[in-house]
Amino acid sequence: MSEIFTGSFTQQEPIPDEAIDAAVEVMRHGRLHRYNVAEGEVGETALLEREFADQVGAKYCLAVASGGYALATALRAVGVTHGDRVLTNAFTLAPVPGSIAAVGATPIYVDVTEDLTIDLEDLAAKTGEAKVLMLSHMRGHLCDMDRLMEICNAAGIAVIEDCAHTMGAAWNGVPSGRHGAVGCYSCQTYKHVNSGEGGFLVTDDAEIAARAIMLSGSYMLFGRHLAAPDPEVFEQIKYETPNISGRMDNLRAAILRPQLRDLEAQVARWNERYRTLEDGVRGTPGLRVVERPAVETYVGSSFQFLLLDWAAERVQEVLRRCAARGVELKWFGGAEPVAFTSRYDSWRYAETPSLPNSDRILAGIVDMRVPLTFSLEDCAQIARIIRAEVGAVFQGKAAT
Ligand SMILES: *Cc1c(COP(=O)(O)O)cnc(C)c1O
Repeated sequence: MSEIFTGSFTQQEPIPDEAIDAAVEVMRHGRLHRYNVAEGEVGETALLEREFADQVGAKYCLAVASGGYALATALRAVGVTHGDRVLTNAFTLAPVPGSIAAVGATPIYVDVTEDLTIDLEDLAAKTGEAKVLMLSHMRGHLCDMDRLMEICNAAGIAVIEDCAHTMGAAWNGVPSGRHGAVGCYSCQTYKHVNSGEGGFLVTDDAEIAARAIMLSGSYMLFGRHLAAPDPEVFEQIKYETPNISGRMDNLRAAILRPQLRDLEAQVARWNERYRTLEDGVRGTPGLRVVERPAVETYVGSSFQFLLLDWAAERVQEVLRRCAARGVELKWFGGAEPVAFTSRYDSWRYAETPSLPNSDRILAGIVDMRVPLTFSLEDCAQIARIIRAEVGAVFQGKAAT
């Protein structure tokens, strides 16, 4: 009888006790709205923003209602408006092109490479098409950020980083989200810290920060922030910027502060699991592991491998066989969007160009979540199952 994995791919760890206590405290006093503070009190949200700004070395930070809201707010704050075009990754998740559509702009997709990062040659070829790049560090894979910034700086392109999968990651020692003009993060349940919903936006640009704060629904209470620019910066901006409510609240902020203090330790735990998976499947015939560059500090909260140039039915056969043994894999090659997984050609509110290079890669990407509730033994077992089933289907292919 072959072994079967019985764990859950969607089970998070509990919220830490310290965070639960902090949340209960906020509920006891009742001042959940971020600007509802007692005389002399500094709210949890303002503290959270200061702490996250310091953690990533940013001047300014705004906490908001979701990662997707942070992306749309960043676009508005850098000046993207209706009818503009915005470069973005062909390999990403729906909230990324969704944020571009939210501001009435159009996504222009850039190819993905076999390393699952944005194709810098394709990017360089498309710099004439837009003034802004919404760069998604999809599934935590960082491209050569030094080269990317060279290309974008030379072309006068403002970079917004979608760090939904790279909170805690770095390129060449620079935290993810700190290369471009704005870095955006998500605190949604499936990301690296968990407040159910939530997000951050960080920047060193005072005007972008002031606009983002006004946009988020600060009314004229921006003076209650601890990671905001000086009041003078708001002088004009406060009249010119619409209020598009999307604030963080003190309850979620209270839950997040202790989790952010633990982030580094959690990253180390994710990476042990990631490496166990990687070691376990490496060398499987027909399977390609995504090698991580030495200068990339990554967070292995999800794991991908490629079944490159396999026939679609063969990949589906692997998925079926793994699922039958309790291993839930996602595939980016499916013709129809499924659950959280969709592709550029499913987002039909915008033009869907033909991207044969990306199609080839997407058709080979197999993806899985790595929740911290998995033990290292769980990861070793999952890898054995993947190795066996990919091997079986691959050999079957060789035999036919
Ligand atoms: C989750 C996610 C987002 C958006 O975050 P939400 O907090 O769910 O709005 C953006 N980009 C990527 C790649 C994501 O996975």
